[in-house]
Amino acid sequence: MVVKAQQPQAPPAGNALETALAQFDAAADRLQIDNGIRAVLRVCKRELSVHFPVQMDDHSVRMFSGYRVQHNLSRGPAKGGIRYSPLVSLDEVRALAMWMTWKSAVVNLPYGGAKGGVLVDPRDLSESELENLTRRYATEISIIIGPNEDIPAPDMGTDPRIMAWIMDTISMHRGYTEAGVVTGKPIAVGGTLGRLEATGRGLQYVTEEVARRHGVAVQGATVAIQGFGNVGAVAAQLLDQAGAKVVAVSDASGGIYNGAGLKIDSLLAYQKDRAKLSTAPGGDQITNDELLSLPVDFLIPAALEGQLHAGNADDVRARFIVEGANGPTTPEADAIFADKGIVVVPDILANSGGVIVSYFEWVQDLQFYFWEENEVNERLHKVITHAFSDVAATAEKHGISLREAAMVLGVGRVVEATKLRGIYP
Ligand code: NAD
Repeated sequence: MVVKAQQPQAPPAGNALETALAQFDAAADRLQIDNGIRAVLRVCKRELSVHFPVQMDDHSVRMFSGYRVQHNLSRGPAKGGIRYSPLVSLDEVRALAMWMTWKSAVVNLPYGGAKGGVLVDPRDLSESELENLTRRYATEISIIIGPNEDIPAPDMGTDPRIMAWIMDTISMHRGYTEAGVVTGKPIAVGGTLGRLEATGRGLQYVTEEVARRHGVAVQGATVAIQGFGNVGAVAAQLLDQAGAKVVAVSDASGGIYNGAGLKIDSLLAYQKDRAKLSTAPGGDQITNDELLSLPVDFLIPAALEGQLHAGNADDVRARFIVEGANGPTTPEADAIFADKGIVVVPDILANSGGVIVSYFEWVQDLQFYFWEENEVNERLHKVITHAFSDVAATAEKHGISLREAAMVLGVGRVVEATKLRGIYP
């Protein structure tokens, strides 16, 4: 038996945890939160690190590392995705868990925040290796997940098929089907209609909201999207259908630009065979850096955190930034955008469509009663536009940015719940 160690790689540009903590501290100052509660919310409540073996197709055994982190449970069970990426680190998972707490609170879902991750590039594994890894990771974290405790969902590098394996693994352990243990599942095993598109659809709804409030028409507006996965590709498709002109999209390999508008359906078909967008037909090749500095109406970062930072924020020429990714903008870049008059719709509001419809899926699983797709989309629209109005009203009232307003609302609600429950014992 050959045991191979998994080599960790360099973390992405921009420190996600530093960004998350700086955003929290700013909101805590504004809310004048006392030092005790501030200390509670600056750290994650529970952090599980796991190291586990996986049997590979060549019968060798390889070790992998992963995490599941729960930030805060004051408002309900923990909720947050699972990321498969060689760049996953404990600090990144902590930051993502913290953002999930504020996100759930800002859209008023009865959840706390969590996140998980495994250091792996899923494209390096065969289907059976991916399934073995997923089932073993699910087993390792099974001691802290469950429909009443912590409900994972897809994030970068994971998808409905992986959620089905997690659900099945936990169900096998418990001896009965535990559909509500994860969301983002295929429809046939307790998933909900509309979940696959939910984050992208939510981005479309908030883009329409921010456009309406600034007197801009989405019809004919230009859009550039970094990241063409579950979030970016669906947003591209829905904004294209809504009449916007998506002029540039990218993936990790680079991007493609066409000033007359890209043919999104052709790009989706092209990408099905795992083809790279940097070689896609229908436009000119561009780098990810070039995409971020295009003169467009809407820039949607939908890949990694830390993509818009002090080093490139000055080059950004978009009118609006609608954050599909979690933590794509550092605090330094935020300040530059504020100076330049660029309106940023923050991640914890803009990409909340995913967790909102995950919540709907969980509710349906707990009730064994499933909704029509239009019901899901209508309820998503209602929840996300309501949250947008709350955030916009708070921003206006205090003369602050949408991010500061979203943080004030989200953090404020978590503080209220923490205080009402009291410090045990
Ligand atoms: P995904 O794995 O489906 O797609 C990720 C995309 O980003 C791919 O196109 C990939 O090639 C691209 N990418 C990776 N590294 C890149 C780089 N260095 N430069 C440019 N592009 C790069 O992931 P996803 O589910 O679409 O998630 C994308 C982002 O949205 C993440 O920040 C995630 O946390 C966030 N998010 C996801 C959901 C969800 O429901 N899936 C919900 C809320 C937020």
